[in-house]
Amino acid sequence: MEYFSARRDRLRKLLQKAEVDTLLVTSYPNVTYLTGFTGDDSYLLVTRTGEVLLSDPRYTTQLGEECPGLNLHIRPPGESMLDGCIRLLKQAKVSRLGVEGDSMSVGYYERLAEKAEKVELATTTGLVEHLRMIKDKEEIAEIRQAVAIAEKAFAVVRAALRAEQTEKEIADALENQMRLFGGRGASFTPIVATGDRAALPHYRPGLRHVGEAAFVLIDWGALGRLYMSDLTRTLVTGKIPPKLQRIYEVVLKAQLAAIEAIRPGRRCEEIDRAARNVIEKAGYGKQFGHGLGHGLGLEIHEAPRFAKKSSVKLEPGMVMTVEPGIYLPGFGGVRIEDDVLVTRGGCEVLTSVPKQWEESIVSVN
Ligand code: ZN
Ligand code: ZN
Repeated sequence: MEYFSARRDRLRKLLQKAEVDTLLVTSYPNVTYLTGFTGDDSYLLVTRTGEVLLSDPRYTTQLGEECPGLNLHIRPPGESMLDGCIRLLKQAKVSRLGVEGDSMSVGYYERLAEKAEKVELATTTGLVEHLRMIKDKEEIAEIRQAVAIAEKAFAVVRAALRAEQTEKEIADALENQMRLFGGRGASFTPIVATGDRAALPHYRPGLRHVGEAAFVLIDWGALGRLYMSDLTRTLVTGKIPPKLQRIYEVVLKAQLAAIEAIRPGRRCEEIDRAARNVIEKAGYGKQFGHGLGHGLGLEIHEAPRFAKKSSVKLEPGMVMTVEPGIYLPGFGGVRIEDDVLVTRGGCEVLTSVPKQWEESIVSVN
């Protein structure tokens, strides 16, 4: 398919800059990005003029369907991955090989260096990840699909909230609904945190009931075909705690200020700053202990990041979460998270679950 070969061509340009003539792609999401192949245990060798996917016979049929026309080396029984790599390196007469430093283990690197004695190895970081920051049209379409699945699932689960439901039951229901709406599953185990548990940004849903607290924080996303979505809403399910409303309004204001600030050319840290200013001004700076957001796509956390020291400049095609939060230990917390596409003129918010304070109040039986 054309867009996969376009991505490989863009990678070749980067290879020249990185001064390697060939890259051994060992990160599976990177292999998927460059070929469309969704299995694992397969590496891609990208040379100046071509590429070969190194795989094994379990995947022959799948490879034919997912990446027709791609050059393959299917390892014969008994040939290890390492032997296969050596064979391909010899065939392609590679003299200087880039390896992915964030993916290859030290042990594998050492064995490769030992066996491929004539090849000079160069550790690279973030080459394919750099390309993945800017989503092409096919990727954006898939992210939109993942957003739609997550939103439909949430609408069903929100409408059916009951006091006797546990956090875990809600998380399971969300996952199940996302599958029913056509997703492959959840992009991560949903976080469903009632009351004071909402102060823990990475809480695992447990056996507490919705009716035991006045509010619940839900952070969820769908895995569509290959791409992901990521949202958070905080719902009021009981008698309104005034403190919750106060921090909710601050978090929402911070999020809207950040979204307003997003446009090409701005540095990621400036967007983080825009939200952080609102929260600091309201006196909750110390209670916003994480970065404002992250890129997402084939993986739930990708480059770049909205964080205090992130000088990456925004470019059209980046898809980022914007997720400020305020967490008060012992009381609870509020986070509001949406997915945003950077466009030429600013940005488009891809997610559309209502988030005004009034809209966060649900009646629970
Ligand atoms: Zn999230
Ligand atoms: Zn997130």
